[in-house]
Amino acid sequence: MKPKAKLIRKTPLRSKTAPKRSPLRRKTKSDAEWQKARKVVLKRSDGRCEARLPVCQGWAHHVHHILRRSQGGKHEESNLLSVCTRCHDYIHANPKESAERNFLKIRKYDIDDN
Ligand SMILES: [Zn+2]
Ligand SMILES: [Zn+2]
Repeated sequence: MKPKAKLIRKTPLRSKTAPKRSPLRRKTKSDAEWQKARKVVLKRSDGRCEARLPVCQGWAHHVHHILRRSQGGKHEESNLLSVCTRCHDYIHANPKESAERNFLKIRKYDIDDN
């Protein structure tokens, strides 16, 4: 007897949890704080990168959170650093070194001790 080929019907992926298009995203308080803090920090550094790592490009194009937002970091001047693209990449690529330089605050459980 020949096995019947199973007919797999491809249904378009349509998740029930797909985000609905929200009408006009409201500006949150957090957005406003972020924009404000960003300006203050870039002004503080005169638009220059504050990390000054060996890979530095000089001008700051990013504002980095020393303590990650996901770990409770706030949009506060003391938690922010003006960085150039390269230093920013470097900071995230080398968290341990960056923590030693105080460019990054890492909670203990995030540090790999090996
Ligand atoms: Zn830099
Ligand atoms: Zn960052």
